[in-house]
Amino acid sequence: STEMITVKNISKYYERKIALSSLSFSINKGELVALIGPSGAGKTTLLNTLATIVKPDEGFLTITGIPFEKLTNRKLLAKKIGIIRQQFDLVGQLSVIHNVLAGRLADWGLFKSLLSLLLPQEKEAALKALERVGLSDKKLEQTAKLSGGEQQRVALARLLLQKPEIILADEPVASLDPARAEDILSMLTTLVKEENQTLVTSLHSVEYARKYFTRIIAIKNGQVFFDLPVHEVSDSL
Ligand code: ADP
Ligand code: ADP
Repeated sequence: STEMITVKNISKYYERKIALSSLSFSINKGELVALIGPSGAGKTTLLNTLATIVKPDEGFLTITGIPFEKLTNRKLLAKKIGIIRQQFDLVGQLSVIHNVLAGRLADWGLFKSLLSLLLPQEKEAALKALERVGLSDKKLEQTAKLSGGEQQRVALARLLLQKPEIILADEPVASLDPARAEDILSMLTTLVKEENQTLVTSLHSVEYARKYFTRIIAIKNGQVFFDLPVHEVSDSL
């Protein structure tokens, strides 16, 4: 199997605080990894490191075999890594379809992506993505007017156009009620499997991790506390 993410002894310090402490693991293509752990454990810092937003102070990191230092090209990064967050990261005043098109053109910038509305095959792809997430009827709505669950589905449609090899999600359902949260996790993991992508998601709920993911990495004090396939994680956690 193909190694998509390799992390060797990475550490990150904030003044006197240790956010990540000599962390190591590797993740293969097709794995659905849930990062769990208490607030302040280092999950966001770790995801930001994998996204190349935060540079580790020590250690070694490769994404699809490419070392951290070489992942500077925006276009290359957009092919490798897609990100979703708790706050959706959409442009509220723009239409749903325009936000989706921004995924295809991650390396163009948002305003140029307006032009893509005029390109028939781009528009076709965006409409298809919206259909897959069940939002066809909302395509022309102003994004800010949608519910939280719907906005996260717009973010998923945007990822369908971006087609990154790896998806990093930081608490993607933390702001949603339980029913919506399960909706989004189910949709996210289904799409990732269909697209043969690799997923790393931080989550508060072990129950959701067990239900939708293949592997759980528990982080505590910036270290790997345990790293197990879901079937080996006991019910009692
Ligand atoms: P989480 O929801 O993952 O627990 P937090 O609410 O702790 O995240 O942090 C939100 C953001 O603030 C993150 O981007 C994190 O990097 C940053 N942050 C967290 N703690 C500090 C701190 N002590 N000083 C500055 N920024 C911080
Ligand atoms: P989690 O996502 O698991 O809640 P974080 O990665 O947000 O954990 O935070 C890990 C530790 O690093 C915490 O102690 C947090 O306060 C600290 N931290 C995170 N980001 C910053 C920052 N930008 N500046 C200072 N401290 C930070």
